[in-house]
Amino acid sequence: MKRVGILALQGDFAAHGAALERAGAAAVFVREREQFAAIDGLVIPGGESTTMLKLLREDGLLDALVEFGRARPIFGTCAGAILLATRVLSPEQESLSLMDIEVERNAYGRQVDSRIAPLDPAPEFERRTAPGRLEAVFIRAPVIRSVGRGATVLAWYAGDPVLVEQGAHLAATFHPELTADSRVHALFLEKL
Ligand code: GLN
Repeated sequence: MKRVGILALQGDFAAHGAALERAGAAAVFVREREQFAAIDGLVIPGGESTTMLKLLREDGLLDALVEFGRARPIFGTCAGAILLATRVLSPEQESLSLMDIEVERNAYGRQVDSRIAPLDPAPEFERRTAPGRLEAVFIRAPVIRSVGRGATVLAWYAGDPVLVEQGAHLAATFHPELTADSRVHALFLEKL
C-alpha cells in the first residue's frame, strides 16, 4: 500500500487523511523533516498559505519540502496549490515554484468566496478516473490566472482552471477531501 504524507502544520489535514484512506492509501501526518524519507507522495492541504509558509520556515521544513517535490509527487489543494505555484499575487508571497502556474489569492470575491459548484472536467480526467459529474467545494479559493506550457488543465470552473497537473504534481483550488467523490485523490495515487 502506498504511504502518502499530509503536511500537518495547519489547515484541514485530517480530512485528507480520511480521503486518502478511502482512495486506498495509508496516510501519515508529516510534521518533521525526517518523515519525508518514509513517504511516496505528499498532500499539502487547504488552510492559510501565509501561516503555512511561516510555520514551514520556523520548523525548518521549507528546503526539505522543495527537495522532496523535486523527486516525488505533491498534491496541493487550495492553500497547498498556492504554495506549489511559481507566482503568487494578491499579495505577492514566496512559494515553492514546483508548478508552472500563477495564482491570485482570494480572487473569487466576497459574495461568492465559499460555495459548492459543479465543475467542467476535461475528457482526460474522466478517462483516467471514472465518468460522472464532479462537484467542488471552494473556500476562499485562489484563481489560477495562468498555466505554463508544461501543465495540463484537468477541470475548469467558470472558465478558469481549477485542477492542474504538471509532471508528478497536482494542484486543485477546491477541496476534494470534503466531498465523497474519491476520483481526484485516486488520480493522485496513480502518480505515485
Ligand atoms: N485563502 C487561503 C490562502 O490564501 C486559501 C484558502 C483555503 O485553503 N481554503 O491561503
